[in-house]
Amino acid sequence: MFWDQAIETAGRAGLERLQLQRLQATVRRVAERVPFYRQKFADLGVKPDDIRSLADLRRLPFTTSDDLRVNYPAGLLAAPLNDTLRLHTSSGTTGKPKAIFFSRADVENAAELCARSFVMTGVTKEDVFQNMMSYGLFTGALATHYGAEKIGCLVIPAGPGNSERQLMLMRDFRTTLVHLTPSYALYLADFLEKRGVNPRRDLALRKAFVGAEPYTEETRLKIEAGLGLDVYNSYGLSEMNGPGVAFECEHKQGMHLWEDHFIIEIINPQTGDPVANGEPGELVMTTLCREAMPLLRYRTRDITSLMLGRCPCGRTHHRLNRITGRSDDMLIVRGVNIYPQQIERVLMATRGIGRNYLIRLEGLDEMIVYVELTGADFDGQVEHLVSLQSQIAEKLRAEILVKPRVELVPPATLPVTDGKARRVIDNRKL
Ligand code: AMP
Ligand code: ZN
Repeated sequence: MFWDQAIETAGRAGLERLQLQRLQATVRRVAERVPFYRQKFADLGVKPDDIRSLADLRRLPFTTSDDLRVNYPAGLLAAPLNDTLRLHTSSGTTGKPKAIFFSRADVENAAELCARSFVMTGVTKEDVFQNMMSYGLFTGALATHYGAEKIGCLVIPAGPGNSERQLMLMRDFRTTLVHLTPSYALYLADFLEKRGVNPRRDLALRKAFVGAEPYTEETRLKIEAGLGLDVYNSYGLSEMNGPGVAFECEHKQGMHLWEDHFIIEIINPQTGDPVANGEPGELVMTTLCREAMPLLRYRTRDITSLMLGRCPCGRTHHRLNRITGRSDDMLIVRGVNIYPQQIERVLMATRGIGRNYLIRLEGLDEMIVYVELTGADFDGQVEHLVSLQSQIAEKLRAEILVKPRVELVPPATLPVTDGKARRVIDNRKL
């Protein structure tokens, strides 16, 4: 199913012509209106007229999240403040957040891309959409809310948490579609199990859009089994409108990134050079339609790769592989580079443990992995727990080359948040 078949299946040559026109307009817009970019262009000796082909993109400066922070609150605005309709901020963990402004067209485009993405997974106006993302400054909920309304779904703005109420809504309104973070999805699956709810029998759920945090294929399978539905990976970030930037189609093999709105580059995060086609690197995006706050070559820090080859769905927009982490997520423990995702993959593929975990780093490089047990295991024999513990530690050592201490903790004792999960606590004094 298509929302806008002509653009979704456009030939590459036409798509690239459109990208070039929009890139040229974007570059002219920021050169005229944003002193930050005017200065950067002057430093690099580049003028808007120098952008004659898509290859000239590389002559333009990168934009980093620090640039957004330094220019907080409104330094990157490319429209008069009274022409902007909405402000969001990005979930910064420390200091000032990043402020993201939307014009009327930006608000409309964000909803349009969400509608396009949803329909790509088979959503219709018959669907009942319970949105369990956080409503507020975070972009995750509003764009998807308006996108689903465009399609004509019944939208339930539930927000995250309060699982008892979520269950009531899912039951009473026969919810078919949910949108939530992977950590909340796992928590909700646990909750349903504890309440003796069999989602396939007792609920009408068909699909979940899961994103806002990195997660592994193993986690997808756990969520699918626990909630009795199909999980589609949804990728977005506030700086690029929020959700609906890249989304899986019905084939669930990579996320189509909407190239009529964004130009993709994958670079080596150390050198800034492009990686070979299909190799992993940092995703860099240039906005093509944003009015209030266009961004050139934005360094997302998200690590991914382009999926090569044509998608059987017929869409021509390139696909991204699952985000494996952020370039700034990497932990160095005893000299070894470790991504939290590697640990998650092992835990989620281990039978007989619960769904929540936490990595803590202490002292001079000691790693402790806390793993929640399920109710059944918690009541189990001590010998069984000791063997489970050493089995997990061994599997982790094989994956990350460092053997952590594994602590098994009772069910539902690790922290859960309404927003993004915090998986790593680094207390090392390095
Ligand atoms: P925010 O701007 O607060 O919405 O955060 C955006 C960030 O969340 C992205 O840069 C990614 O690091 C992360 N993120 C969003 N969606 C996904 C996803 N599907 N898989 C992995 N990471 C994601
Ligand atoms: Zn596809």
